[in-house]
Amino acid sequence: MGREGMSRDEVLSALVAMKSGDKDWRKGRCFALVFNAGEEVEEIAREASVLYLSENGLNPLAFPSLGRMQEEVVDTVAQMLHGRTESCDAQGFMTSGGTESILLAVKAARDRASTLRGVSKPNMVLGESAHAAFHKAGHDYGVEIRKVSVKTDWRVDLNAMSNAIDSDTVLVVGSAPQYPQGVIDPIPEIAALASNAGTSCHVDACMGGFVLPFMESLGYPVAPWDFRVEGVTSISADIHKLGYSPKGASVLLHRTEEMRRHQIFFFDGWLGGFYASTGLLGTKAAGPIAAAWAVTHFLGEAGYMRLVEKTMEATKRLIEGVESIPGLQVLGEPDAHLVAIAAINPDEIDIFAVMDALSAGGWHLDRQRPPDSIHATVSAGTAGAIGDFLSDLRSAVVLVGSSRTDDRSTNYAPIGIDE
Ligand SMILES: *Cc1c(COP(=O)(O)O)cnc(C)c1O
Repeated sequence: MGREGMSRDEVLSALVAMKSGDKDWRKGRCFALVFNAGEEVEEIAREASVLYLSENGLNPLAFPSLGRMQEEVVDTVAQMLHGRTESCDAQGFMTSGGTESILLAVKAARDRASTLRGVSKPNMVLGESAHAAFHKAGHDYGVEIRKVSVKTDWRVDLNAMSNAIDSDTVLVVGSAPQYPQGVIDPIPEIAALASNAGTSCHVDACMGGFVLPFMESLGYPVAPWDFRVEGVTSISADIHKLGYSPKGASVLLHRTEEMRRHQIFFFDGWLGGFYASTGLLGTKAAGPIAAAWAVTHFLGEAGYMRLVEKTMEATKRLIEGVESIPGLQVLGEPDAHLVAIAAINPDEIDIFAVMDALSAGGWHLDRQRPPDSIHATVSAGTAGAIGDFLSDLRSAVVLVGSSRTDDRSTNYAPIGIDE
């Protein structure tokens, strides 16, 4: 910021210039981070965001529309996840994203166990495939992490999970699907382990929440994972992933209002009066709430079904194409739209060197390990680019041959600062 302000034109052209180095996700070459449902959806999201650019989600009494929109979005997701039936009345809140939903699920489970069972040295049991946000939550909320291995199909090892659970376990976690290899954990069995231990069970459907329900409607086989599974006490579903809403929108649902109670912070002991909050934030952006309401209402079930159908067809083409390239494999059997690509023999082909070659063509996939692999989140916006991707991948494997790269770094969430 200079002493004198810049002109409007100077500001905007500076922004456009800065942006030129960023990933161009509109071309369909970005298999992570931004999920594109096309111009119409982007337009409605933009207009809704702009309409609520300056409002504050902190106080839904001042902005009743924001309270109403959040309620309606939560209701929509609760219905999608079969949380509103005769035997179930799931309740939740919108959050700013998957990480906030997961942090709050852990906090709620911890506080619930403390209230109901007097647990004072809490632990939670999860697979090594569970999202890093659970580790952040454990660290931030003082919940010991008991990490168990996955089996050869990349799903959590139930025996290991069972052995790790004890009377201080406040939460058992399953993912639908897990991010790294895209498989759904055995949720009914995980929920039964939790239920037998009298504790909470969270299903991380940050990725699957807006995919699996529509896959099921389209007739795809989907293993049980939502509130129809007894013992599941909370579920996170991100609207800003395959819900195609702009960033800043997720939903955390609890099976009952009593369970949700443990998510909320109530306070009346400072000089400013009563303070209640449902999430990590105080002042809260209203744009993402309005955009989430707008995009879900604009698309409707039919819109999501079209997008999921396109996504699943693209995923099938991607998997078949990768398996037809000599030396490459897809890890496990992805249950939805997440695909990990690896060398069959990592000593012969260095998949990170292959990724370097692909990057030159503007492709963006996460580099992840262990094991060394590259990760594609397929979405409607990348569907049209699968053919080009497969031919570039095939060429990259030939080009790279047996050469290797020294760069073993991974890039899901770097911040540019060393530990
Ligand atoms: C994206 C994701 C998260 C974290 O969500 P953010 O919105 O990035 O904070 C958690 N779990 C899974 C499975 C995810 O895909």
